Amino acid sequence: MSYVDEIYAKVVEQNPGESEFHQAVKEVLDSLKLVIDANEEKYRKMALLERMVEPERIISFRVPWVDDNGQVQVNKGYRVQFNSAIGPYKGGLRLHPSVNQGILKFLGFEQVFKNSLTGLPIGGGKGGSNFDPKGKSDREVMAFCQSFMTELSKYIGADQDVPAGDIGVGAREIGFLYGQYKRLTGLYEGVLTGKGLNYGGSLVRTQATGYGLVYILDEMLKKNGKELAGKTVVISGSGNVAIYATEKAQQLGAKVVALSDSNGYIYDKDGIKLDVVKEIKEVRRGRIKEYVNAVPSAVYTEGKGIWTVTCDIALPCATQNELNLEDAKALKANGCFAVAEGANMPSTREATDFFLENGMLFMPGKAANAGGVATSALEMSQNSQRLSWTFEEVDAKLKDIMVNIFAKADDAAKRYGVAGNYVAGANIAGFEKVVDAMIAQGIV
Ligand code: NDP
Repeated sequence: MSYVDEIYAKVVEQNPGESEFHQAVKEVLDSLKLVIDANEEKYRKMALLERMVEPERIISFRVPWVDDNGQVQVNKGYRVQFNSAIGPYKGGLRLHPSVNQGILKFLGFEQVFKNSLTGLPIGGGKGGSNFDPKGKSDREVMAFCQSFMTELSKYIGADQDVPAGDIGVGAREIGFLYGQYKRLTGLYEGVLTGKGLNYGGSLVRTQATGYGLVYILDEMLKKNGKELAGKTVVISGSGNVAIYATEKAQQLGAKVVALSDSNGYIYDKDGIKLDVVKEIKEVRRGRIKEYVNAVPSAVYTEGKGIWTVTCDIALPCATQNELNLEDAKALKANGCFAVAEGANMPSTREATDFFLENGMLFMPGKAANAGGVATSALEMSQNSQRLSWTFEEVDAKLKDIMVNIFAKADDAAKRYGVAGNYVAGANIAGFEKVVDAMIAQGIV
């Protein structure tokens, strides 16, 4: 059995029930086969892959809090500190009822390679809780965040582990978490990113993942003789990533015609009015179906189905495994020629293979959505220097980073004889840097 197959079999055996983690490991290892086979003896001796797939540390804890009826609630809290070979752990906190250890391990594993690709000195981690912020009052969200941070604060720090937002964690939650960290430790330090602008946040962080996604999409199109202007785009989700991907795509001349949430999707043939979406999602925390109240010519459809909308470009920006083989076929049949992932692992393995085998341009999440964490690292730099850069400065750095990520993925794919396969390219480029650092640091 090859080293790669052996490790994958061990991961499945030793991490039962963690299907998303198995899926992420398989995708990465499969595309690293060429590199690993070429170095098999050395890597085996150093147990490099065994160390690569085992988090350095997983912290799991109880999060008790009191709801508005005086009832005590208990959630599960986690932080997966996956790999610190190239810098302090960095990765978001997710608050969603579906959160479990396997999902956070998949996200932490992906984060290691993504962070490496940015070229910035950040290791990989991820955390969160099965707490559902939906329908909770501000006081309940604060009570949860304070309890969560009371435990988490023991394991994080500006040079140790720097969490950020993810699904269910936006400016409100980061504010509550930061306040509690400061109160407990007495430290005013860059321990979280995505902070408000008045207390150490960076301009562009809010927009970064969505903007970065469109910057790398634009670069991929240009390098393949195509352009974004005038194209029809479908984007799933209507959260942070989806909203700012829509904004940048529109600024660059594309027409975004559909957005969704976990209940259904809207189709606006005239192009999404983003101010209406922002009002619903960022101000009122409402549902996407409310869009048709403000724009009666738009259509709301309950349920999944957004990938049946005709488009040139699809940007999945909601959650893992939201786009399966059937969806991929529907996109292709309707003329879609490019897909870039704003979410983490939104396409199933079968869908990803279909895109690659059918000559579609495909940019995987670990490259395409790296703009968020990259800008978080820029926030860390500003915090360390006690400086704030302008919007234009940060945006220019973000664009530069995304163009560089494309170049690295493109180059690695070409070096290993799989030109145009940005899944392999991103995995290989991310892996090379982490492996070099791990070897240099000895058996730790
Ligand atoms: P938000 O919480 O702001 O938005 C998530 C969106 O996805 C919402 O519209 C939500 O709908 C929808 N969604 C969530 N879960 C599901 C589900 N199970 N089925 C269908 N729809 C769902 O999160 P973000 O925009 O921050 O994150 C979106 C994705 O991007 C995630 O995969 C995240 O890991 C990834 N990402 C985010 C980064 C960031 O900087 N924020 C950075 C890199 C990646 P509803 O409101 O109905 O739940």
